[in-house]
Amino acid sequence: MSSPQVITIGRATDNSLVVNKPSVSGHHAVVTFITDHIVLLEDKNSTFGTNVNGRRIQQTVIGPDSQVILGQVEPLDFRQILALRAGQAPSPPPVSAPVPKDDSLDFRAEFAELEKLQELYLTARKSIQTKDPLRQTYIRAAFSLVPLFGAAIGQIAAAHFINIPQKMAALDEEYKRAYVCPNPKCRKSFGNTPFADLAARRQCPGCKAKWAD
Ligand SMILES: [Zn+2]
Repeated sequence: MSSPQVITIGRATDNSLVVNKPSVSGHHAVVTFITDHIVLLEDKNSTFGTNVNGRRIQQTVIGPDSQVILGQVEPLDFRQILALRAGQAPSPPPVSAPVPKDDSLDFRAEFAELEKLQELYLTARKSIQTKDPLRQTYIRAAFSLVPLFGAAIGQIAAAHFINIPQKMAALDEEYKRAYVCPNPKCRKSFGNTPFADLAARRQCPGCKAKWAD
């Protein structure tokens, strides 16, 4: 995954999204994609402020259902933000393309990755709770261990621009999306089940995907 992508919003013409309205400041707000699904909105000390769901904010995580108002009356459409981002940078193909398999229910290799994912998640969570920032070298190493999921979690843990509760929520959300049955047709959530317990089951109770020998 690439580094967080940023969309600037304001009246000035050098913004990614120009909103030429009287109550919108020249450089009003910034949207940062922490991951594909976690979007941070920050007000850049604008004159009339930024409101999300009726509350004036400095920075907060927003989603498709958030009601964002710039300045006094200007709504910000989440879909417009997504479209802008899509225009800026098309999504790169997955790091490792799935390899066709003889046995379509053999997911042992993908399942094994989840053990590293769980370890990384727990380490990142502990590091955030103890306010001990993960060192960049550690994060790079962690990324390479879990190419498909690790990047997002490492990026959240290392982010310095969101507060601890937001970071925790973002981390938990990303983990919940990733810690699932590796069969794309199943994606059963594993919740907080320890990896060792899952491995002992050897196969998915839902789709019968083979997890371990
Ligand atoms: Zn399954």
